[in-house]
Amino acid sequence: MRYNKIPDEAVRRLPTYLRGLLSLSEQERKKISSQRLADFLGVNHWQIRKDLSYFGGFGTPGIGYDIEKLIRQIRKILKLNMVRKAALVGVGNLGSAVLRYPGFRIYGFEIAAAFDNNPKKIGRKIGHITVAKLQTLQKRKIDLGIITVPCEAAQETFNKLITAGIKGVLSFSPCYKTGRKKIKVITIDIAMDLSRLSYYIPPSQFVAGQALS
Ligand code: NAD
Repeated sequence: MRYNKIPDEAVRRLPTYLRGLLSLSEQERKKISSQRLADFLGVNHWQIRKDLSYFGGFGTPGIGYDIEKLIRQIRKILKLNMVRKAALVGVGNLGSAVLRYPGFRIYGFEIAAAFDNNPKKIGRKIGHITVAKLQTLQKRKIDLGIITVPCEAAQETFNKLITAGIKGVLSFSPCYKTGRKKIKVITIDIAMDLSRLSYYIPPSQFVAGQALS
């Protein structure tokens, strides 16, 4: 598998395929053609085939995909065939909501620790996690980090996570530069996704006359 030749976009779509396949598996489906899978996911069938071909291609011509097998294969590609532990920093509005979200487990993620610098929050329990000081992260053997601190604290938090041995960061605070090429950072920005969504939707009739220059 030549990782450097695999487009990011193909990797980005794999979790979508996984989510759809998990849902089909819940419906006790065993096999599915690439066309049916594509219709179910709302994507092109050639796209699925092309994306999977980067990793070896897994279907049987004329039959399609064995759903459980493809789930196992995609989990393996995404390295989700093991429990992945993540630490969250910034237990505010967003951080608390993320901590309470039960949907990470199905993908094999466990948010194993949460940190904040507000003394009033240290020791507070959210779900089964007790909020701690970031200084204690190093001992926890965790390799994924989630940043939900305010913008001005994001760079400092990023640096501390890396020093503590974190290898990949999911950040909700887009306002910093990482400066570390070997660390994988994925930034989530709802405003940017809304901007992308806006491109596909006709201008709203309800705000006529309020166009920005
Ligand atoms: P919040 O103020 O409710 O929470 C921030 C938390 O971080 C607080 O608990 C605070 O004590 C803690 N904190 C501050 N500095 C810290 C530090 N140095 N170390 C550890 N903890 C620290 O904020 P929020 O509404 O939860 O938003 C959090 C971040 O997420 C902000 O940067 C916001 O812009 C961003 N955000 C992004 C999106 C998005 O779509 N990307 C959406 C909502 C919020």
